[in-house]
Amino acid sequence: MKETIYTIPLTEAFEEKTECPLCVIYNKLEREAISFTLGNSYMQSDFRDITDQMGFCSHHYKKLYDYGNRLGMGLILSTHYKNLYKSLDKLLNKNILPKTTFIERLKGTTPPVNEVSEAIEERINSCFICNKLDVDMSRYISTFFYLYNSSDDFKQMFLDSKGFCLVHFNEILKQAPMHLRDKEKDDFYEQSKKMLLESIKRIQAEVEWFVDKNDYSNADKPWNNSKDAIQRGIQKIAGICPDMEVFKQTK
Ligand SMILES: [Zn+2]
Ligand SMILES: [Zn+2]
Repeated sequence: MKETIYTIPLTEAFEEKTECPLCVIYNKLEREAISFTLGNSYMQSDFRDITDQMGFCSHHYKKLYDYGNRLGMGLILSTHYKNLYKSLDKLLNKNILPKTTFIERLKGTTPPVNEVSEAIEERINSCFICNKLDVDMSRYISTFFYLYNSSDDFKQMFLDSKGFCLVHFNEILKQAPMHLRDKEKDDFYEQSKKMLLESIKRIQAEVEWFVDKNDYSNADKPWNNSKDAIQRGIQKIAGICPDMEVFKQTK
């Protein structure tokens, strides 16, 4: 098997036998991106030019805040705010609130989207970390298909796994046409579909047993696989690990 910097972490993620190996990779990359952002990179002007421009999404502001290093965050925010002021000042210069008729207001018609709101929304969702993770994750997805195509051992490991969460299943589906020939595409689709549906069925039963197990009449019965069914149940559909420890800077 040809080894790249992506093949080993991906294989190791599959070996963890979780609900989704790509969630394992994503969480690892996200922690790296957070410690990179609040490590020493914010002192470098080229990096700051990027964060001044892009900022972060709400999800990653929270993760950066939880990580610690308030001074680093302060420096990042301080110059990002200057950038934000300039762009908002320019953007809000045009008053674009659309005119509405009395009838439209009476009917409560949804107002047409205006370009300022669209630009603000783009700004709110713009995120240096999300951007970086998108690039890195797509390299891991390409590596997944490379290994699936070239290694029987890896293919078997995939087929024996619990597949992916719904979020990463969807990412894989979107990228599959670029990596598989038509015949392989059909096989892959059938395999993945079967694995996903089996997982959903299995987790539904595990969650159901979690609920039933809380009934006093089942107190002496075994948990089977249901003790952590809620965490896994959330991960499988949302692509997040709700019981993951908050990532903090080590002093
Ligand atoms: Zn996932
Ligand atoms: Zn983000």
